[in-house]
Amino acid sequence: MLIVMKQNATEQEVECVCESIRGMGLTPHPIPGSHRVAIGITGNTGPVDPEALSSLEGVTELIHVTQPYKLTGREMKPEDTVIEIGDIRIGGDELVVIAGPCGVETVDQTMTTARAVAGSGGAMLRGGAFKPRTSPYSFQGLGREGLKILGQAREETGLPIVSEVVDTESFDAVEEAVDVLQIGSRNMQNYSLLKRAGRSKKPVLLKRWMSGTLKEFLLAAEYIMSEGNPNVMLCERGIRAFSDYSRFTLDITIVPELKQLSHLPIIVDPSHAAGRRELVIPLAKAAVAAGADGIIVEVHPNPELALSDGPQALTPDMFAELMDELRITVPAAHRRLRSAP
Ligand code: PEP
Ligand code: MN
Repeated sequence: MLIVMKQNATEQEVECVCESIRGMGLTPHPIPGSHRVAIGITGNTGPVDPEALSSLEGVTELIHVTQPYKLTGREMKPEDTVIEIGDIRIGGDELVVIAGPCGVETVDQTMTTARAVAGSGGAMLRGGAFKPRTSPYSFQGLGREGLKILGQAREETGLPIVSEVVDTESFDAVEEAVDVLQIGSRNMQNYSLLKRAGRSKKPVLLKRWMSGTLKEFLLAAEYIMSEGNPNVMLCERGIRAFSDYSRFTLDITIVPELKQLSHLPIIVDPSHAAGRRELVIPLAKAAVAAGADGIIVEVHPNPELALSDGPQALTPDMFAELMDELRITVPAAHRRLRSAP
């Protein structure tokens, strides 16, 4: 259920409606809009009794929300969500490029990459300190040491940091150190982790599980939002299909579909989808053309020596080439390319 308030409704009237909702044992979610406030309701298992709410002061309309994803859907919030990270705005008219190594390996590797990303105009730095790996024998990341190195890179370049949080145990450390919390593909349905991210003040980049349906993806985002965190970015990173030439299959189709159904920003990760660096630039351009709000790519100064995901990492020269290409593609998609601070 969505309660639409009158344009001139006062703050007290909004609070009074929220109080009545709480009185029914449900949770109100005030959603400010450019013209009027709407209040979403979650926590109900069946229809909410409209009588008690429609007569309250300031209420103009009650709308029944048909989709199972409520806070993430456009039914409750038709306007695009724009997430602010410093002066970077994701989901508005800027297209944001996030780039960096798969994993933080050494100070030198991270700093060299961060300088290359900033130098070519990337807006944010990515890099995993905690790595979820398919094999327990593969490089698991530097952990807290990696977070320190990322902090050093932000200090020098001014680039905000995106890094993955793999479990609730290490959550606090990652939360304190980064600007955006990445929830990896393999954790898309880790509900305790999603709920913890929902209680964070930091924005979340939620990656789609490689076999996650659109509905499961939006409901995973709903877990985060229903705990109170409105700042969620949806990241398409490739799904498992029958490709025998790429690591996964980039589901470009989900980009315009998500745009229609959800107000949340959409980021596309062509690196994990392709698994091969020579496919990354064309896929990034396709994502921009399809309406993505941002791109996240892996870059490594020396991909042959990378401890994870080397074959898909762009070299710094290739990253510069990607940015040059995007300077043409992004305006053609009616966006401005966000440049480094
Ligand atoms: C990553 O971003 O390095 C990563 C592990 O991605 P995904 O969760 O999409 O596999
Ligand atoms: Mn990776």
